[in-house]
Amino acid sequence: MLIPDWLLSRYEKLIRRLQAGRLHHGLLLTGPAGIGKHVLARELAKTILCKNNSTTGACGQCQACLLYEAGSHPDMAELVSDKQLGVDAIRQGIGRLNSTAQLSGNKVLVIPKAEKMTEAAANALLKTLEEPTNNTFILLLTNRPQQLLATIVSRCEKHIFPAPVTADALKWLEQQGVKDASEALLHAYGGAPFAIVESLHQDKGLEYRAFTEGLDSLLAGSKDAVSLSIDWQEHAERVVGWLQQYMHSQCIKYPDKQTIHLYEACTQARKILQNPGINKSMILSCLLAEIKQTG
Ligand SMILES: [Zn+2]
Repeated sequence: MLIPDWLLSRYEKLIRRLQAGRLHHGLLLTGPAGIGKHVLARELAKTILCKNNSTTGACGQCQACLLYEAGSHPDMAELVSDKQLGVDAIRQGIGRLNSTAQLSGNKVLVIPKAEKMTEAAANALLKTLEEPTNNTFILLLTNRPQQLLATIVSRCEKHIFPAPVTADALKWLEQQGVKDASEALLHAYGGAPFAIVESLHQDKGLEYRAFTEGLDSLLAGSKDAVSLSIDWQEHAERVVGWLQQYMHSQCIKYPDKQTIHLYEACTQARKILQNPGINKSMILSCLLAEIKQTG
């Protein structure tokens, strides 16, 4: 995937520093979730490893680039984890950096969700950040920098990436083939275009358009809360997330007591849904009934 327009000038700046031999060995890339930090980090890693890189990035043709594209570059490690990232995983990643680069070039370690590191894992990484081996680059990504150890943050050069402005995000979504891209859709995903594309790939079950149509018919009285909640129970977390964003935008337009209360009810429902074994359709139907009553 190409680097989106809103990150391009930042990316090019990093490449220029790499070419000048002034790229910091520890980079902390922060900013809201779903804006393309990971795509930028992967392109940067590829360019760092490329034997023939230029001001526009990796060449795409050298041995390093081909190995990278095949996912088998020996001097590149990426520690992906949705759960905790333990000390063993970090040690394994660091181990790859400490051995001599197999392609006798640079080495890169990417940690896409750095906030998932346990304290022990972070401390293990800290040593490497303090005494980096030659030609080693560590790219830490997070949308929750406050959850990182202060010592980690202080050893890295921090780059904060902004969310795109609406017009740029909508243009990009269209290029990605998202047909019903709208400001409301973008808002429902917290302004994060990558999150929209990801969720479309992951789950074909319920689209945002079907959700807004359902909500409209609920408010118009042509559908009731119970039948909607049965239709949507498989996607309860997603629906409640959308409802929360919807109520948030309502709060901005009509900041009255009732609207704020509904927004808080959505926040509460989102929390309750995290409990295993909960009756999702019940939670959803109560929330929808409440919205219908005041809508
Ligand atoms: Zn190359």
